[in-house]
Amino acid sequence: MLDQRHFRLLAQTGKAVADFLLPPRCPACACRLMEHGALCGACWAKLTMIARPFCCRCGLAFDVDAGSDAICGACIQTPPDFDWARAVVEYDGLARDLVLKLKHGAGGGVVPLLGGLMAASLPSEKQTDLLVPIPLHRRRLLKRRFNQSLLLASVVARKTGLVADPFVLERIRPTPSQGKLGRKDRDKNVRGAFQVRLQQKTPIAGKRILLIDDVLTTGATASACARELKKAGASEVGVLVFARVGAIR
Ligand SMILES: [Zn+2]
Ligand SMILES: [Zn+2]
Repeated sequence: MLDQRHFRLLAQTGKAVADFLLPPRCPACACRLMEHGALCGACWAKLTMIARPFCCRCGLAFDVDAGSDAICGACIQTPPDFDWARAVVEYDGLARDLVLKLKHGAGGGVVPLLGGLMAASLPSEKQTDLLVPIPLHRRRLLKRRFNQSLLLASVVARKTGLVADPFVLERIRPTPSQGKLGRKDRDKNVRGAFQVRLQQKTPIAGKRILLIDDVLTTGATASACARELKKAGASEVGVLVFARVGAIR
């Protein structure tokens, strides 16, 4: 009979073998590291962490501290449909490279790194009942073969003990890339693109949902998802992303 101690020993042996065959490396510069899911010191210094002060609705970093309930101009003008958003870093330089790595293969330890940083940035004052990754349209999923938001949500779930459900939302309309679109066009682009799967409507009623994605730009996609979740009865919708793009008009 195997008890807990044996399982731990087996897991440790398995990890040692895996580390020998595939030694931990920095996902950004590939230098050798002591453990998987970390970043080397030199690369770490290249990330711009987002700390207070930031907009309490969309997580946009502020230059000056206007209080913990300060809201940015864009959120005053068009309040997002989610209640709050938190991002780990600014979407610049190395953060952009890491997100591109995530989207183009998700290997090399980038998923545990980004997911781990996101889990650690989860605000302690916020309560969450369910993690919901932003879904890809099935055509995009077939092409890419994985949904990077689901990979990140799985790591956040493992680190926090929260449950992630990738079947709550579905993208019912493929949306063209939003790369060059401004705020208004992004809203139009994702309007009606998501829906809550019918069989999920009861389980999410009254729940506090946390949407998971890699990057937040204007928040149009997260807002479109939050709108559907609230229509289906969710009591609160937060957003957790790895990187936050600065103000876009
Ligand atoms: Zn590095
Ligand atoms: Zn804002």
